[in-house]
Amino acid sequence: MARLSDPITILKGVGPTKAKQFENLNIYTLRDLICHFPRGYEDRTKLVTIDQLEADRPACFKAMVMNTPRTAHIRKGLDMTKVQLADHTARLNVTFFNNRYVTDQLQYGKEYIFYGAINGDFGGYGMTNPTFEALDTAPITTRRVLPVYPLTAGLSNASVLKAVRQALAICDVPPEIIPEEVRRQYGILPAERAYYAIHEPASMEEAELAKRRLVFEEFFVFSAGLSLMRAARAGKKTAPYDSVDMKPFYAALPFTLTGAQQRAIEEIRTDVRRGVPMNRLVQGDVGSGKTMVAAAAAYLAANNGRQAALMAPTEILAEQHYQSLSRLFTPLGLRVALLTGSMKEKEKRQARELIAAGQIDLAVGTHALLTDATVFHDLGMVIADEQHRFGVAQRSKLSAKGSDPHVLVMSATPIPRTLALIMYGDLNVSILDELPPGRQTVDTFLVGESYRARINAFIRKQVSEGHQCFVVCPAVEENEELGIKSAEVWAETLQKTVFPDLRVLLLHGQMKGAEKEAVMAAFAAGAGDVLVATTVIEVGVDVPNATLMVIEDADRFGLSQLHQLRGRVGRGSAKSYCILTTHNRSAETLQRLKALCKTTDGFRIAEEDLKLRGPGDFFGARQSGLPAFRVADLSYDLQTLKDAQTASAEWIDHSGTSDAPEASALRERINELFHRAEGTMN
Ligand code: ADP
Ligand code: MG
Repeated sequence: MARLSDPITILKGVGPTKAKQFENLNIYTLRDLICHFPRGYEDRTKLVTIDQLEADRPACFKAMVMNTPRTAHIRKGLDMTKVQLADHTARLNVTFFNNRYVTDQLQYGKEYIFYGAINGDFGGYGMTNPTFEALDTAPITTRRVLPVYPLTAGLSNASVLKAVRQALAICDVPPEIIPEEVRRQYGILPAERAYYAIHEPASMEEAELAKRRLVFEEFFVFSAGLSLMRAARAGKKTAPYDSVDMKPFYAALPFTLTGAQQRAIEEIRTDVRRGVPMNRLVQGDVGSGKTMVAAAAAYLAANNGRQAALMAPTEILAEQHYQSLSRLFTPLGLRVALLTGSMKEKEKRQARELIAAGQIDLAVGTHALLTDATVFHDLGMVIADEQHRFGVAQRSKLSAKGSDPHVLVMSATPIPRTLALIMYGDLNVSILDELPPGRQTVDTFLVGESYRARINAFIRKQVSEGHQCFVVCPAVEENEELGIKSAEVWAETLQKTVFPDLRVLLLHGQMKGAEKEAVMAAFAAGAGDVLVATTVIEVGVDVPNATLMVIEDADRFGLSQLHQLRGRVGRGSAKSYCILTTHNRSAETLQRLKALCKTTDGFRIAEEDLKLRGPGDFFGARQSGLPAFRVADLSYDLQTLKDAQTASAEWIDHSGTSDAPEASALRERINELFHRAEGTMN
C-alpha cells in the first residue's frame, strides 16, 4: 500500500515530465492528486440512436462499422480517415483527422460505442473525431459519467483520470473526519465512498452526493477551526476598560459621525467593557468612514493606558492613516508612530524604541508591525484595515504581541450577511450601511468599443480640468487568445499614440513592492495624469483628485470587484465618473453590468453577485483572506454551508476534546488548514 504523502512519481506513467505538468496544478503527492477534484462531469451513461443525435450535444450511441475505414493524405500534416456507421435507425458518415490508428481499431462489420455530436453545418449529416470503445472493454470514455478535470498545458483529461484511478487503487483515501452521527443527520456520504465517487461516480446523482459531502467536509473543518478559536477566546479574560469620555474625540473631528459610525463605536465600547477580548469586524463600503471607527477604538485604548496598533496592507495606506490620525490625535495629546518596512533602519529603530517604552499610544504600520523586532509595552487594541488582505494567522500573530488584546478588523468587501456569518464565524460584525452626507454618487456608464474616441476625449477633458484618471485592465500581459486588454500594452498604446502629451503611469501586481509603492505615491502626489493598472489598485488608496475610472473588458470582473474599483473615484469634491467597456454582447453579461450602473449600494451589489455567481467566488483566497477552498469553488448552495457550520459548532461543544479517531483526524486537518492559510492569505 502506498501512503498519501508519497510523491506521484511512484505511479506508472508519471515520469519527470508528467510530474512537472502536475506541479503546475499544485499536485505533488498522491493526496494532492486524490484531492484534485473534477470541475464538472459529462453524463455519457445514456445510449441514444443515430437518429436522436443532435448538433453540439455529444452523446453515446452504439453503431456498426459499415465499410473499411479509408485514409486519404490531404496535404503535409493532414490525414483524413472516413468511415460509415449505422444502427437500425440511420447511417452516419464519420471523419477522423490525423488519427491513423482508426484504420486498425475500427473493423468492418463490428459494433462499437461512440461518443460525439453531429456536425450541424452544410447539410451533410456527419460527425468529426468521435471517441469510441469496443463493446467488450471496460468503459473509460463512454457508457459512464466522465469527470472533467482542471488541466494544464500538456496534461490531458485522460492522463489525469488514469493517474487518479491508479492512486485510488494503491492508497487509502484521507481519513474520515465527520462523526457518524453528523453524517447520518445531514445525509452525508462517508469519506471513503465520497473520495471514490467524486472521481468515479456511477451516476450524476452520486457525483452530486460526493460533491456535497466534500463541500460539507471543507466547511466543517473550517467552521470547527473557528469554533475552537472562539471557544479558546471565551475562556480568556482581560481587564475591562473604564468608561471613556468620548466628547473630546468627537469635538476634534472635522465632521459629525454618521449614525452607522456611532452605532459601531457604541458596540465597540460595550465590547471592551466586558472583560473578554473583543473580536469585531467592521464592514462598510468604500468611503463609509471606517478609519474614524478605528480611531475611536484606539482612543478608547489610549485613555485606558493601553497601546493600539493599526495594520494596513500597503505602505502607502499605512502612511495615509498615519497622517490623518496624527493630525487628529496630536492635539488630543496622544502619540502616534509610523512603522513600515521601507523606512530607514534608524527611523525604524527609533519608532520601535518608543513603542517598546510605551511612549507611543498608536502605532500605524504594515507587516513590519508583525516582526519579532517590534515589541509593545502594553498592546491592548489590534486593528487590521482591509481585513481581506490579512489572514486569520496574521491577525493572531499581531494579537500575540499583547496579552489577549481586543481585535478590530475592517473590511470594505461588502459580504452578504449570510456569508459573513459563515466566513467570519468567529467575529462579531458591525455594519456601516450609511455613507457620510453630501457624498456624490459616481455616475457609471456601460459602453462598447464604438465609444473609444469619446472615452479618450473624456479622459483628456478630465485631465485638462486638472483631474486624474484610472484605467483598469484585466491582465498584466497581452493574451491574444482571450483578446483582452493588458495593462502593459494598453499603457504603451495610450502613451505613444493617444496621449503623447500626457503623463501615463503603469502599475501592476508583477512589479516589485517598492516599485508599486513608488508609482502609487507618484500618482497620489499628482505626478501622473493617467494611471493604467490592474486590480492592484483595488485596495484603499486615496487619490481625491481622481475623477474618472475607465474599466476595460469589465465583463472579466465580478460585480463586487467592479464596485470596489469604482470606489477609487468620487473621493473628492469634484463630480466623478466610471466607464465600463466590454466587447461582450451576451444579454446576461450586459444585464449584470447594467446593475452596476444603476446602484451604488455595495451590499445590494454583493447580493446580486452571490445570486449570479454562487458563493464560490467569495471564498477565493484573494477576496476573503480565507484559505482557498478546493470544492467550494465548484460553487455551492448556502444551505450546505450553514448545515456544516451548525453541525461543527454543535460537535465542538459536545465532543471538542474527544479522542475518537475522527476527532483527532479533524484536529489535524484544522491545524493544516490554518497553517497552510498563513502562506496564502495575502
Ligand atoms: P473607508 O470606509 O473607505 O475606509 P474612510 O475612513 O477613508 O473610508 O473615509 C472616507 C472619507 O470620508 C475620508 O476623507 C473621511 O475623512 C471622510 N469621512 C469619514 N466619516 C465622515 C463623516 N461622518 N462625515 C463626513 N466625512 C467623513
Ligand atoms: Mg479605509
